[in-house]
Amino acid sequence: MIKFNVPPVTGKELKYISEAIENEKICGDGDFTKKCNKWMEDKFHILKALLTTSCTHATEMAALLLKIKPGDEVIMPAYTFVSTADAFVMRGATVVFVDIRPDTMNIDETLIEAAITDKTKAIVPVHYAGVGCEMDTIMELGKKYHIAVVEDAAQGMMASYKGKALGTIGDFGCYSFHETKNYSMGEGGALLIREEKYIEDAEIIREKGTNRSKFFRGQIDKYTWMEAGSSYLPSDMNAAYLWAQLELAEEINQNRLKNWDRYFERLSGLADKGYITLPYVPDECQHNAHMFYIKTKDLEERTKLIDFLRDNGVWAVFHYIPLHSAPAGQKYGIFSGEDKYTTTESERLLRLPMYYNLKSDDIDYIVELITKFYV
Ligand SMILES: *Cc1c(COP(=O)(O)O)cnc(C)c1O
Repeated sequence: MIKFNVPPVTGKELKYISEAIENEKICGDGDFTKKCNKWMEDKFHILKALLTTSCTHATEMAALLLKIKPGDEVIMPAYTFVSTADAFVMRGATVVFVDIRPDTMNIDETLIEAAITDKTKAIVPVHYAGVGCEMDTIMELGKKYHIAVVEDAAQGMMASYKGKALGTIGDFGCYSFHETKNYSMGEGGALLIREEKYIEDAEIIREKGTNRSKFFRGQIDKYTWMEAGSSYLPSDMNAAYLWAQLELAEEINQNRLKNWDRYFERLSGLADKGYITLPYVPDECQHNAHMFYIKTKDLEERTKLIDFLRDNGVWAVFHYIPLHSAPAGQKYGIFSGEDKYTTTESERLLRLPMYYNLKSDDIDYIVELITKFYV
């Protein structure tokens, strides 16, 4: 049986978790959390990175920092994970869905301007599969209309657009370290902050509305309740797990890219003959092999292929049901313009097994099965 996902393990996770225990500091903002934050800041050239309990929570923090309130509108693709919308819906905002580009499955940047109204407070591009959205266009729109840009870079760590790390381009960037992502701590995430003016509020929101971070740095004598906040900081034991992965981030990335390339090369014959469509990575994007997907002719063919692969011991899965067709999407969202590609393209997409240390032989076997299915 070839699993769809295996959480990344590098070998040092238990050692670091033991260290956290020996340090007698297992709650939030211990040594490992600080190391992870600094690693992201240095590696991605971002002013501030704060480890959080999830990407969902990092996005909630962005919504709080932007003071999103009932009546505000937030633009995002309908083809995304529920968290992208949840974080803003929790603040009472209306979600405005925009169609995706069929080539990258990312928000179609040319349709965003038409969705902007005087209630629009944020644009939330989602870097699907770790392939960057057309960020120059999106940032220009943000500037022109004074709208914040929050990157859902849950899948995007270690990927870049025009040389800039995904997550560091918008006003805020949100990473996920869920076990299904390239780098993991079980459940976890990070909020990336580009501007000084948000840092103090972010630290307060993350620490139950208190200025405890300042207190620990010795900047104040007592800490107190400053604002409405929550508890968005992860345990240092989880950060210890993540640290083992960040230390080997380049190696994990190269390993995944090698596997991605192997799939791509070996499936290109089928794509050339028109049986399937392979992923597209624009020249200005360096991806991180977060996922490998193919597109079948339609939903019916995809269902048959999934069954065929499962019967032969391979777990392949489809992805998001577009949010505008879900009950909550209908309640909290509206679709701007026409759903030309979101539904049809999502019905064609099939994700193949992809994880750190997936074996080449397994990839070859999967390719062989897909070839057998078509030819
Ligand atoms: C995984 C994912 C999330 C949620 O991440 P969590 O860390 O589980 O909260 C949000 N958006 C996208 C696009 C994702 O893939």
